Formats: sequence, C-alpha cells, structure tokens
Amino acid sequence: MGQPPKYQHAIVIGASIAGLCAARVLSDHYDRVTVYERDTLPAEPAHRGAVPQDRHVHILMARGAHEFETLYPGLLDDMVAAGVAKLESRPDCIHFGAAGHVLGTGHTLDREFTAYVPSRKQLEWQIRRRTAALAGVEILQRDVNAPRFDGEHQTVTGVVLSAPGTNEFVPADLVVDASGRGTRLPAWLDEWGFARPHEQTVDVGIGYSTQQLRIPDGLIAEKVVVAGASRTQQAGLGMLFYEDGTWGLTTFTVNHVAPPQTLDEIYEVADAVLPEPLAAAIRQGEPVGDIAFHRYPVSRWRRYDKLQRFPGGIVPIGDAVASFNPTYGQGMTMTALQAGHLRRLLAAGTRHLAYDLARATAKSTYPVWTMNAIGDLTLHGTEGPAPWWYRPVGALFDQFLGAAENDRVLAEWFLRRFSLLDSLYMVPPASIVGRAIRHNMSLWWAQKRASAPVPGPDPVLGR
Ligand SMILES: Cc1cc2nc3c(=O)[nH]c(=O)nc-3n(C[C@H](O)[C@H](O)[C@H](O)COP(=O)(O)OP(=O)(O)OC[C@H]3O[C@@H](n4cnc5c(N)ncnc54)[C@H](O)[C@@H]3O)c2cc1C
Repeated sequence: MGQPPKYQHAIVIGASIAGLCAARVLSDHYDRVTVYERDTLPAEPAHRGAVPQDRHVHILMARGAHEFETLYPGLLDDMVAAGVAKLESRPDCIHFGAAGHVLGTGHTLDREFTAYVPSRKQLEWQIRRRTAALAGVEILQRDVNAPRFDGEHQTVTGVVLSAPGTNEFVPADLVVDASGRGTRLPAWLDEWGFARPHEQTVDVGIGYSTQQLRIPDGLIAEKVVVAGASRTQQAGLGMLFYEDGTWGLTTFTVNHVAPPQTLDEIYEVADAVLPEPLAAAIRQGEPVGDIAFHRYPVSRWRRYDKLQRFPGGIVPIGDAVASFNPTYGQGMTMTALQAGHLRRLLAAGTRHLAYDLARATAKSTYPVWTMNAIGDLTLHGTEGPAPWWYRPVGALFDQFLGAAENDRVLAEWFLRRFSLLDSLYMVPPASIVGRAIRHNMSLWWAQKRASAPVPGPDPVLGR
C-alpha cells in the first residue's frame, strides 16, 4: 500500500480544543491548513471571551492526557515544567465523591495511574502554540460566515469569511467544523437540501458558579477534589490546584436548581458535600477575581452517523457533534478521541471520510453518553424519557459505588473507568460485580448483627 495522497488546503472553523487538534492531524495530510477563529487569541495562557466555559474547572481525564500527548509529543512534560500538577499512582491526591459516595482511594494503586491537572487556559494555550508552530498551519483571527456549497457536485468547496462589505471566498479541499456546540451545520445542511441530524438530548439543567481562590499552603493535601451531585443533594463541586498556585473552585447545580450566587452560598455547598477539613480550608481561601457563572441547559448528541446523505468536503468534530454533561469532565477527552479517529482514517486513506468519522465517533460516544444519561436520569433526578433498563442499571451502579467506599479494588476499578482509561464502557466484569455484592452483603450482615437486641441473662441458668 502506498502513502495516502497529500491534499492542498484544509480549513478549520474554530481554534479551540477541537479545531486545534483537527489542524494538528490535518497538517500531516494537507500542504496548508488554515484555522479561522473569530475570537482574539491571547499570546499567553488567558481566558477567552468566546469560550466562557474556560473560567470553570476543566478536569483533564487520564485518558485525555494520553490522547493529547499522542497528538503533541512532549506536551505533558511542558505542562509539568509550567507548574501543572502531575499525580502518579497517588490517589491520596484526589478526593473523589460520586452520587453521594466517597471513594476509598487513600492508598497506593495497584496499577499505574497518572493524571495531570492543567487549567483549561493553560492546556488550550499549550496546544495552540504547538499547532501554530507546525509547518503549513496558519491560525487567523477571522469570522467564518458559512461554508460554500456546490450543488452540482454536492460538495463544500471552501468558506466565505465575514467581513464588512465583502464576501471573501477561500477555497479548500476539506472544511472541518470545530465551531462548538453552537454550530450552524444543521441549518446549513437544511439549506443545501440535506436532512438535519437527529439530536439526542438530556435536559440536565446545570448551573455553574466558580470562584478562584488562594488557599494557604498545607491546608489541603489533595490536588483534585470532586464531589458529584446525588439524588438527595442536587449540588456538587469540583476543585483543582492550578499551575499558578491558585485553586479553581466550581460549584454546580443540576436539574434546573439555581446555582450559588454569592461566596457564602458557594461555602454552603462546600459544607454540604465535603468533609469538614476541606470545607474549612476553602473558607480560609482568599478570593481571586469575581465569581463566574455559566448555564448549561442540555447535553446534546447530533447523530451525523444516522444520516443517509451527507455533502462531501466537510466534517464536524468536537462539541459540534457531541456536547457532554460538563460535570462529568469528559468533553476535551472525547474531543481528543475524535481527533484520533480523524488521524487513523486519514492515514488509512479513507474515501468516505465524513461517514467513517461519524461512525467511529458514534462508537466512542455511545458508552460514555449512555452512562452519563443513566447517571443524570436515575441518580441526579433529571426528568426525561429513559429506556426501562436505565433504572436497574442506575441502582446497581449506586450499589457498586457504595461498595467502592471501603474496597480499594473496586475504587481503583471505578477510578480507571471514570478516567476513560481501560475502556469507555463502565460495565464491570463478573469478578468485580461479585466482589461488590460480597462486600455489600458482609456490610449488611455486620449492621444486622450490630442492631440485634443484646440477650438478657438465661432464666434457667441465671447467666
Ligand atoms: C461549563 C463547562 C465546563 C466544562 N468542563 C469540562 C471538563 O471539566 N472537562 C472536559 O474535558 N471538558 C469540559 N467541558 C467541555 C469542553 O469545554 C469542550 O468539550 C471543549 O472545549 C471542546 O470544545 P470545542 O473545541 O469543540 O468547542 P468550543 O470550545 O466551544 O470552541 C469553539 C470555537 O469555535 C470558534 N468559532 C465558532 N464559530 C466560529 C466562526 N463562525 N468563525 C470562526 N470561529 C468560530 C469559537 O470562537 C470557539 O473558539 C466543559 C464545558 C462547559 C460548557
């Protein structure tokens, strides 16, 4: 098999995580790659107006770190050199609560587990500077008005840039839509005579309130603190120790509950979901800047994989395809996986890029999307239609997390799966299910014995 052909020009709409990863992959196959971003791109790690979520805690899953490193060799070492915390088989660096259970991870893990804790602005900046340095790649500050569609050949031929008074057309062999969850691709498809993709949604109704804090040294041993929402507690919290020595503290609410509006209300969430020493340490923190807010109404998966017809010359990637409940911290990792699919398909010289990419993306999205939906609909009280089997699976999952509170093997299994490391499927093997059942049974017996009435003196023997 010879080398796949090299094409001339690819255009990427959007220079956030998805657009940058796509440009990285395309640079191996196209002479020129132009990334158009309408936002101002800072020269240093800094927040961006067009990506308001970057003010809130962004967890980088262990799997995501691995995928980004594959795309950008040396990235993780560079981040560590910039001060990013690296957690190596040291789960005592993580306080992890999920669905009301705190995992018993205060021990050394049996298998290697490495996680990195960059701020979102640090990660994006590191990726951006590496992408911009690639031969043939240009990142330009321009707003894309729309792709241009050639009806005769049923293909996209480039993009039209928004500019006052002009309609500048830039031709390309391929356009990648990495414009995020607000993409207009479904509307463009409609305009060009194609069906819109069916949208799967979960009405999660999430509200975010984030305060950056400077907490005196020595008060918190962990570098990552996570306490998810539960059936009885519709608020949760994520807290990361950043490379500049500050903490990002995000509190969130689910199911359309109003998020905290003041620092006192943020403290109240911390008091409710964290052990006392952690909550007390937060209260000793000095606020840096103002509270940032964000609303995330629905998780959305656009099923491009189900379309019968699709134009040539364009593919969507990243949040433009699937936008996951952000409280589970998976979006960037799932985006990096999509970039991996694009890379493999281009290297294999596929002739049906849009179709093959949509299929590969659906395959990696399905298990993660489904597990999230089960968590939302059965453990967080989100309303919405759910297949009959979600409830029993949710109940089993709750049982499993209960057992993982005191069983390090179960806790490690969960941590690795939650980090999307071993598999994207959260389906435990029989040995792990058996262990969880045995654990919960012995707990149940111990509780039963402890609550049994203490027998009095034997009436016959008198003792
Ligand atoms: C509140 C919140 C918290 C999150 N937390 C996490 C987390 O903990 N962990 C995690 O992994 N993920 C998290 N995510 C998800 C993560 O932010 C995204 O998955 C990630 O940014 C990938 O998105 P993207 O690059 O596809 O799109 P986006 O990040 O939305 O970027 C789209 C880019 O396209 C540009 N653009 C749009 N239209 C045009 C146009 N016409 N012309 C030029 N440029 C254009 C925009 O300016 C923007 O820069 C969170 C998301 C939210 C909302």
